[in-house]
Amino acid sequence: MQIAERCVVSIHYTLKDDGGEVLDSSAGGEPLAYLHGTGNIIPGLEKALAGKRAGDKLSVRVEPAEGYGERDERLVQQVPRRMFQGVSDLQPGMRFHAQGDHGPVAVIVTRVAGDMVTVDGNHALAGVTLNFEVEVAQVRDATLEELSHGHVHGPGGHHHE
Ligand code: ZN
Repeated sequence: MQIAERCVVSIHYTLKDDGGEVLDSSAGGEPLAYLHGTGNIIPGLEKALAGKRAGDKLSVRVEPAEGYGERDERLVQQVPRRMFQGVSDLQPGMRFHAQGDHGPVAVIVTRVAGDMVTVDGNHALAGVTLNFEVEVAQVRDATLEELSHGHVHGPGGHHHE
């Protein structure tokens, strides 16, 4: 069957940046399973997969606007170190959840200098052009339960208790 709205699609993929560095890959693991047409994956990749079938291979180049968005320098902020009470060894690379205007935001510490800490709320892949090598592993109809939850159950998807 062809990939269309409300299909469960399993893909193997390798994601590289423009420099050829591998950022992510499903190689050696379960394929990624997603519910097509619901925004489970980035828009540029979802569009490219429409109409494909199991066994199809494709190379997809996704610009930031169709991927994780452009970097927003307003999401880079300096905050006082006392905001991190209880964190004894604050280091660049540490991740936290901060309270943003629209709910919790994941931020990464990029610099610690004296009493000031620089945090970046951009997605790690914001502003990055994404180069995917994709192989469609399986296409099937979604179950009613999957449709009502808006995500895939089972291998490569969500597991509920
Ligand atoms: Zn569910």
